[in-house]
Formats: sequence, C-alpha cells, structure tokens
Amino acid sequence: EGTVVAIDGPSGSGKSSTARGVASARGLWYLDTGAMYRAMTWWMQHHRIDVDDAAAVAEAAGRPDITMGTDPADPTVRVDGRDVAREIRTREVTAQVSAVSAVPAVRNRLVAEQREVIARGRRRAGGIVVEGRDITTVVAPDAAVKIYLTASAAARADRRSGELGGDVGAVQADLVRRDRIDSSREDSPLTQTADALELETTGLGLDDVVAIVLELVDR
Ligand code: C5P
Repeated sequence: EGTVVAIDGPSGSGKSSTARGVASARGLWYLDTGAMYRAMTWWMQHHRIDVDDAAAVAEAAGRPDITMGTDPADPTVRVDGRDVAREIRTREVTAQVSAVSAVPAVRNRLVAEQREVIARGRRRAGGIVVEGRDITTVVAPDAAVKIYLTASAAARADRRSGELGGDVGAVQADLVRRDRIDSSREDSPLTQTADALELETTGLGLDDVVAIVLELVDR
C-alpha cells in the first residue's frame, strides 16, 4: 500500500517543481533527496571539514542530524535543529555537493534515511513523491512510477539562472561540470529505459509535465 513516485534527473530538468506539483495534486508527501546531500555538505563546510578529504568526510558523515519536512507546499530542511533551506542553495554548497555525495559513507547513511521516510509516507500519507539522482535505481527501484526527467543543457541553464540569478553561460558551465561528476545522461524524449520512463521537458511547461506524470500515477 501507498504509492511511491520516483523522479530522477539532472539539475534544472524541472524535477523539484514537477515532484512538488504531483505531490500537492494527490495529497502525497514529498522528499527532496538532493537537499539532504546539500544539508550534509553545508554541515561539513560549517564545521570546517575539508570536503576533498574523503576519509574525513566519511568519518563525520554520521554526525549531523538532518530532518526533512515532507509537505510539498513547504519542504523544510533542518540540520541540528537549524533551518538551512536558504544556506543549502548557495554557490559554496553547490560547488562542493558532488564531492560530498560521492563518499560511500554519506550515501549509505542518507539512502537508509530516505527509505525510512518513504516507508512512513506510504503508511501515513498514502504515498510519497521522491526526487533525486538514484531514486529509480537504488533508493526505490520498486516504485510504482519511475521517471527520468531531462532537458537540453541550455534549457536547464536558463531555468536555473532564472531561479538563482547570474550569468547563463556560467550557470550552464557549472551544470555541465556537475552532470559529468554525477554521471547523468543526455538522451532522447520519452524513452522507456530499463529503469524509468524518460521524459524530455525542453519546451514543455510545468503544467504539461505535471499532467503527464499524474496520468502515470493514476493509471
Ligand atoms: O538535485 P540537486 O541539484 O539539489 O542535487 C545536488 C547534488 O546532490 C547533485 O549534484 C548530486 O551530487 C547530489 N545528489 C545525489 N543523489 C541524489 C540527489 C542528489 O548524489 N539522490
């Protein structure tokens, strides 16, 4: 019981807006797993841990208390009780989150916590929409709906610089750099891959994408 909707994709693909829209429309919980990796990265920086020292990051990975709000209308992020929703979106965190999330001790811990939130969402809310990079493959491969959202690098940079401000060229260079580290892919529109239904969103509006996903959820 309880529907799990797993949405993966690179940043700027529209994952967060889509996941929140779908969760709101069906009264489901929402979990942003990227925010958890960002929160971990913020804590490392706050405690002056060298994020390029994988052993130091691994050793500290169990220390921060990370609490995620699951309301799609107000997805809060707390680290040791402090609201860090703004801090985790800074350039500093974005620049180092790929390094921190590459450390196995970090992933093991956060994946376990993500699975706990998913189990609670199934029991208490009738389901949950989870977004990230490895939800369809690792965190919840048994999800009822599995989607890989993508968009051209230019479209993604456009959306991101619209959200964050800043030069589109620089934003695109950073996206491409992070994609490479996160080993994301760039494929064709609406392809059924082994893991997920791939949805190319370049040129589509948010409402269109949400409607497509809702159709899959209601099937
Ligand atoms: O989705 P967002 O861009 O906020 O994710 C930030 C970073 O967190 C990604 O670039 C990736 O390094 C990491 N991440 C991850 N696994 C996830 C979600 C995010 O490694 N499930």
